[in-house]
Amino acid sequence: MTNYSHTLDAQPQTLPVGKVVCVGRNYAEHARELNNPVPSEPVLFIKPSTALVKLEQRIAIPSQFGVCHFEAEMAVLIGERLTTCNEQQAATAIAGVGVALDLTLRELQSTLKEKSLPWEKAKAFDGACPMSAFVSLQNIEDLQSQQIKLRQNGELQQNSNSADMLTPVLPLLAYISQFFTLSPGDIVLTGTPAGVGPLAAGDSLEISLGDQIKVKTNVVIKGF
Ligand code: ZN
Repeated sequence: MTNYSHTLDAQPQTLPVGKVVCVGRNYAEHARELNNPVPSEPVLFIKPSTALVKLEQRIAIPSQFGVCHFEAEMAVLIGERLTTCNEQQAATAIAGVGVALDLTLRELQSTLKEKSLPWEKAKAFDGACPMSAFVSLQNIEDLQSQQIKLRQNGELQQNSNSADMLTPVLPLLAYISQFFTLSPGDIVLTGTPAGVGPLAAGDSLEISLGDQIKVKTNVVIKGF
């Protein structure tokens, strides 16, 4: 159940709402801050369409599963079907670029990781992917030189550049499409830089990508 729909260049989009394919540990600094090894190839996971909500609306986090972390990430909206594609095909299939939060129930994730169980409950729950409106690719000068910032109650917590991705967007899409066909309306989250941290009810957040996207939102407890 989601009332989410895509917005591109301030227009509502008819592209369907699909899955969200995410990459873990795509910035070395972030892998290190969580004491994870820097991976030799992308770590992939999926959030279902039911995880999508609009970032511009307030963010409702669950309270019964422990700490919920923010992870600000560059997001790519897919406009054309990609199966085992190359980087050139990936480039022409990008419909838009946005910024998302990969909400993560960090304590639950740690417990699952300790037991070598999948992460889904910690990252794919309802509302786990607040997503901004997208801007089309021609309005973004260079995908790999976008500053990603997150301010929490005015404090700058995340401030890094997409230049630091271990696997840049186009090779990432090509890699993903070897495992999962990307369909029009799917979204790819490209990993979070360092500086992740816990959210609390009443937090105000300001998340930006380059000079094209800036979103203000705030945090409430789900169900209140
Ligand atoms: Zn993430």
